Amino acid sequence: MRKVRQRDTPPEMRLRSELHSRGLRYRVDAGPLPGLRRRADLVFPRVRMAVFVDGCFWHGCPDHMTWPAANRRWWEEKIGRNIRRDRDTDAELRAAGWRVVRVWEHENAVQAADRIERLVRAA
Ligand SMILES: [Zn+2]
Repeated sequence: MRKVRQRDTPPEMRLRSELHSRGLRYRVDAGPLPGLRRRADLVFPRVRMAVFVDGCFWHGCPDHMTWPAANRRWWEEKIGRNIRRDRDTDAELRAAGWRVVRVWEHENAVQAADRIERLVRAA
């Protein structure tokens, strides 16, 4: 059984290298908030921004979700829990004054980097 939060996936690596080439520096797979047991894929501590690269399957992408044929109900509950946990993480971080950016794994890395770079530079 794969973990929900995977590190170093190809979409994440593409985004990281795109951001790095623009001179942006960040922490990888880090817990943004002490006491909150959630990790973000990328953390920009100075501007208090957490970036998550969400896998289309594990996080229930509305465009690409395809359900396994077997144990459909079990999967719906599992993915439903993941989605609720994501929203809860977002709420906790925002309540603590953090900005949360979520990028789908299907998103173009250059466009996602544009979005993130704009926010970091504006902060
Ligand atoms: Zn997707």
